[in-house]
Amino acid sequence: MTDCLFCRIVSGEIPSERVAETDAVVAFRDVDPKAPLHVLVVPRIHVADVGELADAEPATVTELVQVARQVVADSGQESYRLVFNTGEEAGQTVFHAHVHVLAGRPLSWPPG
Ligand code: AMP
Repeated sequence: MTDCLFCRIVSGEIPSERVAETDAVVAFRDVDPKAPLHVLVVPRIHVADVGELADAEPATVTELVQVARQVVADSGQESYRLVFNTGEEAGQTVFHAHVHVLAGRPLSWPPG
């Protein structure tokens, strides 16, 4: 039993709309989408953020990006943004590493 939301989604204890998965990562739709395509790709292992993931399983960071790119291609989009909110001040609210995959509308810069 864990109180980590994304560990519980990875295990299937909490339902999600999965769009892709591999031995190392799971991709599912964000429950509060900020773009027509808004998917989260998360490692199966529990680490707090992408920096910790890079230390623990560097190959899985590559896999997050490869799966993100595949999800975008499967959706028929070409342009996309990957976001790793890291730390509270940067907007991270779930402390299990994840990348936001956003596509399907013009995205402004700089982010807020
Ligand atoms: P962050 O603020 O970068 O930590 O992102 C956490 C994301 O998780 C937010 O975009 C939330 O909308 C999303 N989220 C929270 N609960 C769920 C859930 N049960 N299923 C899918 N996405 C979720």
